[in-house]
Amino acid sequence: MQYAIPAWDLPVVPVVAGGLPFPVRHIYCVGRNYAEHAKEMGGDATKEPPFFFTKAADAIVPARPPEVARIAYPMATQNLHYELELVVAIGKSGANVKAAEAQSLVFGYAVGLDMTRRDLQNDMREKKRPWDIGKSFAQAAPIAPITPVEQTGELAKGEITLLVNGETRQHGDLSQMIWDVPHMIEFLTRLYRLEPGDLIFTGTPSGVGPVVAGDRLEGRIEGLTPLVVEITEPAA
Ligand code: MN
Repeated sequence: MQYAIPAWDLPVVPVVAGGLPFPVRHIYCVGRNYAEHAKEMGGDATKEPPFFFTKAADAIVPARPPEVARIAYPMATQNLHYELELVVAIGKSGANVKAAEAQSLVFGYAVGLDMTRRDLQNDMREKKRPWDIGKSFAQAAPIAPITPVEQTGELAKGEITLLVNGETRQHGDLSQMIWDVPHMIEFLTRLYRLEPGDLIFTGTPSGVGPVVAGDRLEGRIEGLTPLVVEITEPAA
């Protein structure tokens, strides 16, 4: 195919054990899906329907262990936050999917970080404007290799832990999600047809906080390949 301008490579996420890479179509994210995190963001723990936002597919930074993924401190922020999340990789198309059938859409799972320019997000939230500038920006979605569901089974529980410079900052269990993955897919597919290549970031436990250049983040979820990220100086 020839294009009017030079084309770029499709964003991809590696798949464990020499699997073929997973091409990324669209990134959906769920807000406030753990009660303690909802509280720390100024909400409460009542079970409201989940809400969603998106990131551009080219925000993906694929980690290739044992190499450490490096992301530059982004422009236009003084308050870059980490949010460690289980990421669901979608392998089949579906709209209006019931929770009971939702698992059939899942290709696999990975450890991801929903990096957030919190100052911009909060400013937009206060003004009732879209969150996009706080959530979707270059390198905002580092992600570890995907493990296919055949190897993990349905992931409904398991420890989720983030260390910054070796200290635990976030710790929870996937079973603490307000909306589990099947119900999240049920809600999301009332709004959009999910397609192969879509990723869903499923929300973060409490303990979110800022990072600076030089920090090393290590995200772990039981049964999945850990994600190790280093924050580097801002790009020139
Ligand atoms: Mn998040």
